[in-house]
Amino acid sequence: MTSGDGGGFEHCAICHATAAGPCARCKKPTCGDCCVLTEGGAGQWAICLNCNKRGGANINPAWLSFGMWLMLPLLAILGAILLLAMVFGK
Ligand SMILES: [Zn+2]
Ligand SMILES: [Zn+2]
Repeated sequence: MTSGDGGGFEHCAICHATAAGPCARCKKPTCGDCCVLTEGGAGQWAICLNCNKRGGANINPAWLSFGMWLMLPLLAILGAILLLAMVFGK
């Protein structure tokens, strides 16, 4: 915990009590009262009440970029197949 602003302790972004840990989504410090544990793909996450209100229980951005990395090679292969079809398909 190196914060610098609160005299060594990080403070909850919601109620300003001493924070227990950062939110898994917005990385703001939260105390035990202002975070909820949620199931997110690979285990349990603690997210703050603000994020819980906004997005529900799923940790979206990580899974979105993971999906992108799966899609890019597929699109490249599709492009190659289309190119081959154009060259040999006459
Ligand atoms: Zn709090
Ligand atoms: Zn948050």
